[in-house]
Amino acid sequence: MQDDDTSTRPRIRIHERALRKLWAYIEACPQEIGGLGLVECSADALLVTEIFLPHQDVTPSTTDPLTAGGIDVLMKALLARGICLSKLRFWWHSHADSPVYWSHEDRKTVFNLSSQDFCLSFVGNRRREHRLRLDASVPFRTTFDRLPFETVLETDRELAELVRKEVAEKVRMQKPSFISRVLGASPDESPVEDAFPLIDAADRRRFP
Ligand SMILES: [Zn+2]
Repeated sequence: MQDDDTSTRPRIRIHERALRKLWAYIEACPQEIGGLGLVECSADALLVTEIFLPHQDVTPSTTDPLTAGGIDVLMKALLARGICLSKLRFWWHSHADSPVYWSHEDRKTVFNLSSQDFCLSFVGNRRREHRLRLDASVPFRTTFDRLPFETVLETDRELAELVRKEVAEKVRMQKPSFISRVLGASPDESPVEDAFPLIDAADRRRFP
């Protein structure tokens, strides 16, 4: 099934660093190379978080350079990091300096990789052309081709913590007054007291 209805297309996001790495791999090799990546699922999108280049054998006639040994090493490394292998659902490969399209071999690979659940596939070349597709076998065979994607900045926890400390050190925030909290005014608005200064009973006698 081919679906070109954009309203039903899944939303794909790729972490900026993962995308940079992907293009760097493609540009670094004059022959067709490939690899895998991690995908996280949320309620409204699929997010590609990391890209990997397994050991592989590349020749001018290679159609699927990924070797069992290379995949095995990658899987062991992911398990050592406590990463669930079910996240390994991104398959990417390069067409080097040739146009991007899904060859017969590519379609066979996609079919196999998506046979249990789903697979997100990316093909790119050194002219920075690309195609992205999603294939799912559950609940039935579905293909979304020529998918757009959004690039997202991943959270840098180390940087976030450094910045949080700097903000705490350099930024003084005024606490909202009691009355502005009661009236729902935001702290940066003029205090209610400025417009309607409170006066005590003694002052009231001087302001008949
Ligand atoms: Zn291909």
